[in-house]
Amino acid sequence: MQASFQVITFISVVGLLGCGNVTQPQHSQNGQVAVRAVYGGIPGEGIAGFQLADHGVDAVFIGSGSITEERINWVQSQGARIYAEFNTLHRAEYLENHPDAAPIGTDGMPSPAPHGWQGICPSHPGYRAQRMLEFRKLLRNFPLDGVWLDYHHSHASWEREVPVMPDTCFCQRCLQQFTADTSIQLPETSQESAQLILSRHAPEWTRWRCDLLTDWVREFRSILDEERPEALLGTFHNPWSDEDFDGARIKKLAIDLKGQADYIDVFSPMPYHARFGHVGDLGWISEQTSWLGEHLGIEGSGDAETQIWPIVQLSDWGEEVAESEIPAIIDHGLRAPSTGVIVFAWGSLKKQPAKVEELWRTFRLLAEAK
Ligand SMILES: [Zn+2]
Repeated sequence: MQASFQVITFISVVGLLGCGNVTQPQHSQNGQVAVRAVYGGIPGEGIAGFQLADHGVDAVFIGSGSITEERINWVQSQGARIYAEFNTLHRAEYLENHPDAAPIGTDGMPSPAPHGWQGICPSHPGYRAQRMLEFRKLLRNFPLDGVWLDYHHSHASWEREVPVMPDTCFCQRCLQQFTADTSIQLPETSQESAQLILSRHAPEWTRWRCDLLTDWVREFRSILDEERPEALLGTFHNPWSDEDFDGARIKKLAIDLKGQADYIDVFSPMPYHARFGHVGDLGWISEQTSWLGEHLGIEGSGDAETQIWPIVQLSDWGEEVAESEIPAIIDHGLRAPSTGVIVFAWGSLKKQPAKVEELWRTFRLLAEAK
């Protein structure tokens, strides 16, 4: 079911990056670090003579809406891979013509979008069918190297130091499906049902919501296997452990990583240290990746079918990221069990040439390491 990876071996390159406290980046059999990717654009696109390999880049991620045959050809002709990012549960514009797809809160009313992050009810059949069709067309039409799911979580604003994660979705459709699947009987109104669920049936509700989102991943996998089985299926996801924020990744966001692991080739947690209140604590990046590896039983070596490639923050969001920190950020992003690193985000980063040069220097050193 899952695409195979090259056997990964470990080669010590302590001190390679010129920063203290460096551990061992992981290398494939040909001596290259597994993946050195840029997210949010294609560096050098349209610049004559620019070669991604000259800058140590071997993969790029761009939004599925900006994928074209020409862009794929340009990247792949340079020997690099191109992956599309695919928005699953946050296509807010769908609500304009389908107000019944709005997530319902504990008061029985549409839940206001926290910080403007508008989610969609995960049991809405029309919305799901539309997303699955778009996913299929993307894979059918374009020779992509893979697709990464994004925003695959409940209606919430979690990409910040203090997240806002309202309890949803208590629409009649979700409630009826919950009763059908669990045999738990509920009162007539959404408001009464929400009260009963959260006070008496929270574990069953959490399980049901997680399973629903996992079932989306199962269907994405089946479509990918039908349309382009050699492509990878990845996911950009919340980087919290089961304990962080009192288990909110599961209880609030409905992300069951173990459940999704049956279908996912590459997990890409998003430990944006500067955005999430960890300035000066770069170790937090590799701690989150380490937790994920233990949680999923991924060691980052051998010919494991499932890989971890975190996406790390180099652009300024929340707090600034200093140019001098870039080698250490990349290093933490590559510590075991990681077998690749993705850099966030080109759209902003490209306006900071000194940071770009430091990124290229770091990536080149990794690419050249034997
Ligand atoms: Zn619903």
